[in-house]
Amino acid sequence: MLDLRSDTVTQPTAAMREAMAAAPVGDDVFGDDPTINALQERVATMAGKEAALIASSGTQTNLLALLSHCQRGEEYLVGQEYHTYRYEAGGAAVLGGIVPQPFEIEADGTLDLAAVEKRIKPDDPHFPVTRLLALENTHTGKVIPHTYMQQARALVDKHGLNLHLDGARVFNAVVATGKSLANLCAPFDSVSICFSKGLGTPIGSVLVGDRDFIKRAYRWRKMLGGGMRQAGIVAAAMDYALDHHVERLADDHANALALAEGLSQLKGIRVEPAQTNMVYVNFESAERALKVSDHLRKQDIVVGAAQRMRLVTHLGIPANAIEQIVTAFRDALYA
Ligand SMILES: *Cc1c(COP(=O)(O)O)cnc(C)c1O
Repeated sequence: MLDLRSDTVTQPTAAMREAMAAAPVGDDVFGDDPTINALQERVATMAGKEAALIASSGTQTNLLALLSHCQRGEEYLVGQEYHTYRYEAGGAAVLGGIVPQPFEIEADGTLDLAAVEKRIKPDDPHFPVTRLLALENTHTGKVIPHTYMQQARALVDKHGLNLHLDGARVFNAVVATGKSLANLCAPFDSVSICFSKGLGTPIGSVLVGDRDFIKRAYRWRKMLGGGMRQAGIVAAAMDYALDHHVERLADDHANALALAEGLSQLKGIRVEPAQTNMVYVNFESAERALKVSDHLRKQDIVVGAAQRMRLVTHLGIPANAIEQIVTAFRDALYA
């Protein structure tokens, strides 16, 4: 089975499972899990931040960040299609009384900082209090330029705001740019990092920031029911992923390039340039996309059926499968 729907479909490898089974564990709510403690320290150091906190998912680490930065009646500035606005069920508003101020996203995945600046509210009791700018890297596979992040930092400094990064796939940006994690995290007060995407763990995200911020996030995590007990088995998978699944993201990027190149030879679809581990394929109609996806399914290739179809390369898509996938698309398109 070749499942291209997402890099979240990756299965923990046999070696990762062994590392999980061998992990020393303790009650993490008591602070007693040595594997959790070591992983949090390792990620904080790698990210160049004071402290780190593990949570079950990226939705939770993003929520912890929003709740820890913003009080009730305060506002965060965010992209319409960023995960922290669109894909987290409105958690910040529902659970935190936090007001989102969304912006259209530019073609390169950024927000227009001039437009953002115009929406920062003056101190007036009519308005929510603007507190935070929330960005994303990578966004739909696009690596956001580091100079842009530095400009965003300058903007928030000018207005006394905080800056959060949804870095669900920040390791893809690390590998694509050759910059260190600390370097990419430097402009941000807080960063959320997923391990259950391209890094291939079954569960787990980490939030990094300064000690006070992580202390607040820790309280919120407890309140949300996110305090875990012998969770070192999860941290062991994450530690294994840092050792073995970061550099190999370059293979996913190369495979996405090869896939985009192969598919762009086919008639009847428009293929967007590959960005890190994602390829977007545009069909004439939704019906056509559905027909192709049904056809591929019969050959054990699983894709989403959207008219703008996202194909994601990952641990479970070996280089030698790319030709087979392109051929299956050709058969499906010309059938
Ligand atoms: C996947 C993802 C998240 C977090 O998702 P979870 O499934 O909750 O771990 C956050 N942001 C982006 C951009 C993502 O792709």
